[in-house]
Amino acid sequence: MKHASDKKTDQKIKGLAQYLYESEHPVFFTGAGISTESGLPDFRGPNGVWTRRDKGLPPGPMAASWDSVEPNSGHYAIVELQKIGKLKFLISQNVDNLHLKSGIRLELLAELHGNMTKLRCTRCQQTTDQVSGKRICPCGGSLVSSVVNFGEPLPERDLSVSFEHSQKSDLFVVVGSSLVVTPAADMPNEALMAGARLVILNQGETPFDSQAHLRFFEPIGEVLPKAVRKLKRLMGLFE
Ligand SMILES: [Zn+2]
Repeated sequence: MKHASDKKTDQKIKGLAQYLYESEHPVFFTGAGISTESGLPDFRGPNGVWTRRDKGLPPGPMAASWDSVEPNSGHYAIVELQKIGKLKFLISQNVDNLHLKSGIRLELLAELHGNMTKLRCTRCQQTTDQVSGKRICPCGGSLVSSVVNFGEPLPERDLSVSFEHSQKSDLFVVVGSSLVVTPAADMPNEALMAGARLVILNQGETPFDSQAHLRFFEPIGEVLPKAVRKLKRLMGLFE
């Protein structure tokens, strides 16, 4: 027999599947929480990537093995949504490249804090793969790390496209972010003002909890893949 709490979780997962089914402009917003299930260290810990970033320090020794970090079931659930036309846009605070590695199309993704594997041109803002070895952009500008350090402005295009999609969304799903860093944290607000439903999957509290139409504290990997499977059934798609 199932526990009462499991039943409640199942109900909520069903609700999320239904919201996705009804949505014409679903937008996802991800933070570090989606990647901890890939074995990445606590980003906010004393030596966490973000803690170091906020102090203007490069990522710690962990960075050397980032290439070996693989996307997890949460990342792949979002890719599945992309395949069935249920992802209009993905906004991410993560720099770990796991969304692109999992197969998210570049044009559907905004990386608000940059990407560890990419360089950005200081003149035209184009990004390029670090492995290319190039240090000069075809436009003549110089290529520097695309990762945004504390106090630096966020990439303009990524930011404006993210706000645009937040305002167009009818369903805004937050996955693994505590929504405390602005301007990213303003985006759920834009979505709510546009009349969107707000769903939050995060293990810690967020300032938007009382406004969420559905709130999950359960692990992302135990919610998102199941919701996508239920959605596919609703859409008449079979695995
Ligand atoms: Zn350039």
